[in-house]
Amino acid sequence: MTKKEERELAQRLVKEIKAMADKTGRKLRFMEVCGTHTVAIFRAGIRQLLPDNVELVSGPGCPVCVTPDDYMDKAIAYAQHPDVIITTFGDMLKVPGTKSSLGEAKTNGADIRIVYSPMDSIPVAKDNPDKKVVFLAVGFETTAPTAAATVLAAEQQGIKNLFMLSAHKLVPPVMEVLLNDEQVHVDGFILPGHVSVVTGTGIYEPIVEKYHVPGVVTGFEPLQILRALYRLVKQVANGEAKVENEYEDVVRPEGNPVSQRITDTVYEPADTGWRGMGIVPLSGLRMRETYKAYDIEQVMPLAAVELPAPKKTACRCGEVLRGIVTPKECPLFGKACVPTHAIGPCMVSVEGVCAAWYKYGQGR
Ligand code: SF4
Repeated sequence: MTKKEERELAQRLVKEIKAMADKTGRKLRFMEVCGTHTVAIFRAGIRQLLPDNVELVSGPGCPVCVTPDDYMDKAIAYAQHPDVIITTFGDMLKVPGTKSSLGEAKTNGADIRIVYSPMDSIPVAKDNPDKKVVFLAVGFETTAPTAAATVLAAEQQGIKNLFMLSAHKLVPPVMEVLLNDEQVHVDGFILPGHVSVVTGTGIYEPIVEKYHVPGVVTGFEPLQILRALYRLVKQVANGEAKVENEYEDVVRPEGNPVSQRITDTVYEPADTGWRGMGIVPLSGLRMRETYKAYDIEQVMPLAAVELPAPKKTACRCGEVLRGIVTPKECPLFGKACVPTHAIGPCMVSVEGVCAAWYKYGQGR
């Protein structure tokens, strides 16, 4: 398809979305729960294309953003230990903890190494047998299989000095929290593409049924996102609520059973904390008893380390992540908080909502 044809198709879809939304006689609000969708939506200017009665709002889809302060404080405390090497994705260095960041700890001499995959931690562990190498395992269902595979590889290779500090998150439980939150209003979800490749589409069905709120899995091209929106609006107009798949070439109903098995071997569901949402039951993954030798919190508990008291700032990242306020409603947005000097995690990651608003001209 040529660019011109794509543009024409996009315009037709927008007209159809408007016609269908008009039938409902009210304003519709849809939420994406994937940071890559957030960026794709802003990059393509989709918010501006939509009619006034269809609004898009970003949810808790950025893994770095949803990681709470206390996890960062623990990571910093481990990083400051002379026997520890931290391996992590680069974004994590800038995420503020209560009092400082991993970036500051690194400047002050902590051994923190940027990796592109958890597997990159294996050679670091092999080269430093006298150190404990701790990978900061954050992310959704998408990244958990690679972290789990790293643990299995370490086990197979007899590596005993590689550990995880786990903060993996699961998407469906937090969708349920949002739907139970009186401050959050959504008429449907643009469901994540990458997560669904692993999980399949079936995991969303109980929620969609229970709350009668539609969801459509989709890819990251503008036309895919617009088609997903059309399907969502059509479901609402027809009084339906089901899970649809606009990414069928890539996402199968059953997902990727191999990846699921790898994750299940190493991890089990557990309660975990989300920024702005507190502890969400069974919304995270912790290492199973059989793999506790690879869990740094089991091997080297931080109980003896005094973690800083929670801080109060004007950062509204927790509300931004629930779609309750837009970044513009934060008094620090674009002033004290910019990508080069982020006050909160939503401005740190390229997938963060505040960073996307800042980069793409504040959206709508
Ligand atoms: Fe937090 Fe910065 Fe976003 Fe405000 S603009 S909510 S301070 S990340």
